[in-house]
Amino acid sequence: MEEVEIKEWGKEVFDLLSWYKMDTVKNAKVMVVGAGALGNEVLKNLALFGVGNIYIVDFDTIEYSNLTRSVLFREEDADKGYYKAEVAARKIREINPNINVQYICGKLNTDVGLGLYRQMDVVIGCLDSRLARLQLNRLCMRADVPWVEGGMENLTGNVRVFRQGENCYECGLTENAKQNIFQQLSCAGVAHRNENVGRIPTTPVIASIIGAVEVQEAMKLIHKEEVQSGVFSTLLGKWFHYEGMHNHVSVYDSVAFFDDCPSHECWTDIMKMPALSADTRINDVFTTIKETLGVNEVEINLRNDKFVDIIVSKNDNQRFTPMLPESKISDYIDSNYDLYTRSRADLNQNAYENIDESFPYQRLTLHEIGVPYLDVIEVTTEKGVHHIELTGDIEHYPIIIK
Ligand SMILES: [Zn+2]
Repeated sequence: MEEVEIKEWGKEVFDLLSWYKMDTVKNAKVMVVGAGALGNEVLKNLALFGVGNIYIVDFDTIEYSNLTRSVLFREEDADKGYYKAEVAARKIREINPNINVQYICGKLNTDVGLGLYRQMDVVIGCLDSRLARLQLNRLCMRADVPWVEGGMENLTGNVRVFRQGENCYECGLTENAKQNIFQQLSCAGVAHRNENVGRIPTTPVIASIIGAVEVQEAMKLIHKEEVQSGVFSTLLGKWFHYEGMHNHVSVYDSVAFFDDCPSHECWTDIMKMPALSADTRINDVFTTIKETLGVNEVEINLRNDKFVDIIVSKNDNQRFTPMLPESKISDYIDSNYDLYTRSRADLNQNAYENIDESFPYQRLTLHEIGVPYLDVIEVTTEKGVHHIELTGDIEHYPIIIK
């Protein structure tokens, strides 16, 4: 008799594992931030495991130097300068056509709405800068989602797990490291020049090892009941350290969660507002919020990105009108010859951090002033501070609807 082939992904393979719950894994939502060497390994493993809903975030394009450590990229992708997130999404769909994969070619802090972070079971950081890790930490704390962090250099790598109320990336930083990051943070807008980050030497094997441990931790965090009942121990509050030159593997205790840390803000009171989208015009946003909350005064606090309408050159008073979020001003200057050739110290920008009904550009949409889709906006009214999700954007994220 001919054997009937079972085509369901993982059937009679992963069910042999005592802890693996197929439905839990199929329904899991995991975001991978960074689709470089580590991200490639992480994504490959998530696809092989059959994690059902994967979201990829990366702003960068593929270069030849990436090919040595990125199993999902090909020479043609570098030739064409494709986005890492897009190619990675296509390739892991080839590995496992049963999974839902979405991607954002953008930055984790200005192009990904907090509402999307909130939907995730776990976020996996595959980042190469402390600033990006700090930003991801703040967003995951705000959204109350656990995140797995991986880092590597040469034959050495680390993995840690952070979660609101228990362990925090920023609290674990040395004072020196913090000062370094805050210097970069304060240099937004016209004062900022895109910095050439020094290349860190890595190998395909260290990316495999660290990416694999990150996914193993994510798989545990997805299986929440097994974590609670003690089937697993996670790396929450621990520091996994692998040193490949002499083969030392260590797990240290590493818990840091201090009261005065600015990263711990948690938005627990988020109100879903299906009538609002990032494509809603600002005057309509005010009207909707006033009607829904029964208030008269509304001010939107742009917490992640200010809005810049004008840049003035102090020397000759020449005006430029970028009409862009502050995070995009540096690129704007670099692409405008007249601005690029001026000293940055000579440039003054006019930026809006809080906007109310006196904001002169009421016909712009929230997205046009820099608010990402499905974001949560902070609003101050006479009744207090509110956090409002742009729930009308849910259609931009089919991963969530499914
Ligand atoms: Zn902290």
